[in-house]
Amino acid sequence: MDSRTINEHYAEIGAELIKTEEALESIRNSTATIVYLSSEHKKTGNGKIVKAQCEKISDKYKWGIPCDFTITVFEPNCEGMTEEQMKMLIFHELLHVKISYKDDGTEVFGTNPHDLEDFKLIIDRFGTEWAEVKE
Ligand SMILES: [Zn+2]
Repeated sequence: MDSRTINEHYAEIGAELIKTEEALESIRNSTATIVYLSSEHKKTGNGKIVKAQCEKISDKYKWGIPCDFTITVFEPNCEGMTEEQMKMLIFHELLHVKISYKDDGTEVFGTNPHDLEDFKLIIDRFGTEWAEVKE
């Protein structure tokens, strides 16, 4: 079952990334709030293991989930990953957060699609194997 709990450690990693990573400047300059969650669910999608997921919370659910986005880490799928890899995973998920503006300056929240390729930025810096676990 996909029950999720708030994870303060990931929140700290995320806050630090948003503060320091240039690619996340749009989040830094916005009012977007993000809640970081852990799930014990072994999520798969299209036959692939899903390590984490970024979701925009629609207005109609905000009474229950008081934030604009959630980032969920599916813990059983991340076993053996190092702290540095977890940081990259959260960085990856934060790159999905999309902030745009209407003509009147109102913020519009959305998500960037997940390409078949990983985000080029992370690949360039850490290689295609960034999420592989060493046996
Ligand atoms: Zn992704």
